Amino acid sequence: MNARSKNLLDGHEAAKKRMAESALRVERIRETGGERLALATIQVGHAKDTELYAASIGKLLAKAGIDHVPSVSPEKISQEELVAKIQAFNDDPLVTGILVFAPLPAHLHAASVLNAVDLLKDVEGRRVLNGNGRRVLSPTAEAVMALLEETGEDLTGKEAVVVGHSDIVGKPVAILLLDRYATVTVCHVKTRDLRAHVERADIVVAAAGKPNLIKGAWVKPGATVIDVGENWVAGKLCGDVEFEAARERAAFISPVPGGVGPVTNAMLVRNLLKLYDLRKEADGNL
Ligand code: NAP
Repeated sequence: MNARSKNLLDGHEAAKKRMAESALRVERIRETGGERLALATIQVGHAKDTELYAASIGKLLAKAGIDHVPSVSPEKISQEELVAKIQAFNDDPLVTGILVFAPLPAHLHAASVLNAVDLLKDVEGRRVLNGNGRRVLSPTAEAVMALLEETGEDLTGKEAVVVGHSDIVGKPVAILLLDRYATVTVCHVKTRDLRAHVERADIVVAAAGKPNLIKGAWVKPGATVIDVGENWVAGKLCGDVEFEAARERAAFISPVPGGVGPVTNAMLVRNLLKLYDLRKEADGNL
């Protein structure tokens, strides 16, 4: 590690480590007579971003030794037809997890579609939070926690500020940070003084999807900054944090690209393994 990379949280390295652990676990399950793991993906229409994501998921699963069961439906599929597809995967014992690519076309009621996924197959933790613990949470939120783990710092009692309160990032990150006994503040569009909150944070998780929203000068010296944002500005991918200025002050910072993104994929695979374990437990086999 050179001086320049000293405070950089390398998402590719963190992802590689976790993917290797998961691939080993998949192999062990197979060796001990367990069934193959399979992820069913549900794609509606052919939006370019979804096609790219679907292709990357296919490669990721192949790398982990997990089967991919893709389902692609026409853009105009009805709510009932889509829910019936999900139901069929819910009932299929060979399917370990289900991923519905978002966003869905506007004529579909996204929350009802996502809530049709069996809780024990909900690999992205998109179903309404019910707090009973027997589920997985969003892989992006888990990726944030994995990068925090890479710092080696104890989160107990730390002031953590999460910027953004979406169901898929902000809220589950807040829950996971609370589980680690951080003192958590969640900021959103109606927050009165975002700067004041960020300035006192030991940990900043930026997930607003607004380029350069978090100014480098707001970062407390020695803080850890995890940037979840993915924004395209003049053809370049960037996060929500003014990266170079923030890096001067942070003890640890994750870059965009190369931070949360790659770890999210690794955590998706880990979630699938957790669903496998939860199902075995529910069946009384663990
Ligand atoms: P989202 O659903 O649009 O949520 C953004 C959140 O930020 C909302 O809670 C919004 O509040 C809040 N917000 C917007 N502007 C704000 C401001 N000026 N100050 C404070 N809060 C503000 O997006 P998301 O799905 O959570 O994703 C957030 C970002 O992470 C996006 O850039 C997305 O591309 C990226 N992302 C990355 C990964 C990855 O793996 N790297 C995965 C998922 C998402 P309101 O709802 O009240 O408007």
